[in-house]
Amino acid sequence: TKPPGRHFHKNHRLWTPLTLADFEAINRCNKPLPKNFNFAADVLDQWSQKEKTGERPANPALWWVNGKGDEVKWSFRELGSLSRKAANVLTKPCGLQRGDRVAVILPRIPEWWLVNVACIRTGIVFMPGTIQLTAKDILYRLRASKAKCIVASEEVAPSVESIALECPDLKTKLLVSPQSRNGWLSFQELFQFASEEHSCVETGSQEPMTIYFTSGTTGCPKMAQHSQSSLGIGFTLCGRYWLDLKSSDIIWNISDTGWVKAAIGSVFSSWLCGACVFVHRMAQFDTDTFLDTLTTYPITTLCSPPTVYRMLVQKDLKRYKFKSLWHCLTGGEPLNPEVLEQWRAQTGLELYEGYGQTEVGIICANQKGQEIKAGSMGKGMLPYDVQIIDENGNVLPPGKEGEIALRLKSTRPFCFFSEYVDNPQKTAATIRGDFYVTGDRGVMDSDGYFWFVGRADDVIISSGYRIGPFEVESALIEHPAVVESAVVSSPDQIRGEVVKAFVVLAAPFKSYNPEKLTLELQDHVKKSTAPYKYPRKVEFVQELPKTITGKIKRNVLRDQEWRRR
Ligand code: ATP
Ligand code: MG
Repeated sequence: TKPPGRHFHKNHRLWTPLTLADFEAINRCNKPLPKNFNFAADVLDQWSQKEKTGERPANPALWWVNGKGDEVKWSFRELGSLSRKAANVLTKPCGLQRGDRVAVILPRIPEWWLVNVACIRTGIVFMPGTIQLTAKDILYRLRASKAKCIVASEEVAPSVESIALECPDLKTKLLVSPQSRNGWLSFQELFQFASEEHSCVETGSQEPMTIYFTSGTTGCPKMAQHSQSSLGIGFTLCGRYWLDLKSSDIIWNISDTGWVKAAIGSVFSSWLCGACVFVHRMAQFDTDTFLDTLTTYPITTLCSPPTVYRMLVQKDLKRYKFKSLWHCLTGGEPLNPEVLEQWRAQTGLELYEGYGQTEVGIICANQKGQEIKAGSMGKGMLPYDVQIIDENGNVLPPGKEGEIALRLKSTRPFCFFSEYVDNPQKTAATIRGDFYVTGDRGVMDSDGYFWFVGRADDVIISSGYRIGPFEVESALIEHPAVVESAVVSSPDQIRGEVVKAFVVLAAPFKSYNPEKLTLELQDHVKKSTAPYKYPRKVEFVQELPKTITGKIKRNVLRDQEWRRR
């Protein structure tokens, strides 16, 4: 079959636009990837067209609030014209060209979306980062990527200035702020006078579009480069069947702008389906504001990391009546079954967990309509063939624990990252035989559901038993005293290593006798899972070390344990 799409007609007046059904067929490997693809032209501008003809309901493309009374609502048409202006800012005064790399370090402000789309229109490779990055983090990113330009907000401008001289490739600093600043071009000023006329670059499907840095849970973040189509087409099934979005839906994905989850939930999957992306610029996460937002706005779909749900279920959720919420999602970290059950009991809503990586997007998910097994990450998502393999790359049968891996057919799936930039060794290390290895361990059951055990490095081996931290943590959180915990290995003279739990206590239990509570928690775990998994050591802490994305950094606690020896 001939690839679908506009680009295969010599005469451009004859092109038929790609449809959502085409994108779906490409993901299911029923249609080949088109030679050229550009998310702005092939997706966003098509929705703008559908708005005009009334084929899309009156639902904004972007709906932004900040809790202080400011609000922005853009249709796809407005997003189109504003992002064309932004494209002209990047290419003209900033002098950027197709293929140049730009670090985009902005909070959740509408300009973040404009700059993303502007980069896509111009073929500029954008690299989102969170404003929580320190000067050292920014230096690492700018140097590693040889970025030509940084787009930043006031929060990070001083950090950028403190290291800019150490970045020889950095030519332009573009500030997004109502104020101007010495040494920076002003986005607002240039934007005001920029033209709305811009013709979108015809990017190749496999041309680089973006570089996302991994979360850095296990070390230095890696630069995963993605093509125009890997995120732009590759998130179709995830949008339709995991997020379950239609063009009338409003999705609130709370992830920070710096992580690939923002790309999934706040850009590509959502806009592929024509849904409205809702954004609340909370100064700081706060459960009351969070719950108020769900009761005030007609949000239909919510996506938050597990840590947020762990906090929410500490509240009396029955007191809240959510306006339109009907589909809730989570991912990025394992979701404890106890939290899922409490959420369900208190809100009457299911919680659909997905499992993915910056490198390859969504790997497994509980898709709408599938039965949810509490504690499982759901089934493998097309186009991936997800398997559990051993250290030699052999497929293991259901019930056997091994490494979660994706089969590489004759070619690399188009929705894969193209590489870790300038790191061929790390890129090559992800391949084992016919498989891409995720670095995570898990089990598949006989129904094809995947169960997360832990990151390969986090698995504890005690007296010859292999123990996954997640199972122990999930047992601990069933106890009312435990808000959350991190389970790691700790050195032991006899057993080599033993299970140690760092536990954050719920307020009423903070005054309890720690020895008694330790015994009680140990007892609880012994009853809840196989007794050999119980934590022989327990330490109560005020909080757990986490990445900026809210993931528990078990490696920090583990290193601390082993250093203590
Ligand atoms: P780094 O690779 O820099 O150490 P990271 O792996 O945390 O950081 P991401 O790409 O943001 O960077 O996260 C992907 C990882 O997050 C997965 O490999 C897995 O370990 C974990 N993860 C994501 N979703 C889930 C989930 N639903 N259940 C369990 N783990 C998950
Ligand atoms: Mg990783």
